[in-house]
Amino acid sequence: MVNTDLTSGATGTVQDLTSLVGRSRRIVAFTGAGISTECGVPDFRSPGSPWMRTRPIPFDEFVASDAVRRRAWAHKFEMDDSWRGAKPGRGHLAIRRLADEGRLAALITQNIDNLHQDSGLPADLVIELHGNATYAGCLACGMRHELVPVRARFEATGEAPACDACGGMVKSATVSFGQSMPEEAMRRAHEAVAACDLMIAIGSSLVVQPAARFPAIAKKNGAVLAIVNREPTPLDPIADIVLRGDIGTVMQQVVDNVRFAS
Ligand code: NAD
Repeated sequence: MVNTDLTSGATGTVQDLTSLVGRSRRIVAFTGAGISTECGVPDFRSPGSPWMRTRPIPFDEFVASDAVRRRAWAHKFEMDDSWRGAKPGRGHLAIRRLADEGRLAALITQNIDNLHQDSGLPADLVIELHGNATYAGCLACGMRHELVPVRARFEATGEAPACDACGGMVKSATVSFGQSMPEEAMRRAHEAVAACDLMIAIGSSLVVQPAARFPAIAKKNGAVLAIVNREPTPLDPIADIVLRGDIGTVMQQVVDNVRFAS
């Protein structure tokens, strides 16, 4: 296997990662926005990111002001349009292959784009730490709201959506800055990293807390830690293997060449 994707500063090769994957039985993948860039969903921190063009609206501001809620919804629909029709990429499909082989214990993701589910990964393997942008929910009663009717009403009235069932505020099912983390997802993520033998962190700058702690916890619990990201991350010094390659290329090579130990 020719390893053309690595730049200086990386430790380990695609071949090293491939044999690690082959030897591992309980793999946890931890993904960030970088796995979805080849699908046309921009990441958060790379230069020119559209997510950074306007200041993210913190949760307390969303709930405090009707005007802020209207602004948040208008911005959300604009962002949704920018990645409408995105399909899973090679990284998502590689993770799905690990699941098909029975080697994936869990997928912990910071992503909100639903592309892991779209790749066919079983829902019970997916742990979403920052929610999901493809639907909305009522902050008061928790009822799920689909975006098509929410958007139609917003565009017709200009009003921030309210829940049909209880009149509560409706918000995208994503976790905003300052909003509490989803308890069940956090519990499942802790459980997953307590029991994995290989943690692969893919496409994350690993700076958003508390999510970015999970790869470090896995390592502390005895798992091998691999990082695939084109830029350095704060966890590189504790990783067993760091690949600074293109995610789609690296992950596809891994699953195309892996031989799983029986
Ligand atoms: P980030 O933007 O902070 O980091 C992404 C990393 O991926 C960067 O270091 C970048 O260099 C790397 N990268 C991008 N494309 C790559 C490629 N093809 N190959 C290799 N590396 C690549 O993202 P984060 O760490 O996930 O944190 C951002 C936050 O924003 C998360 O909380 C997430 O919820 C949210 N977000 C999600 C999406 C999404 O769902 N796709 C998109 C933008 C932001």
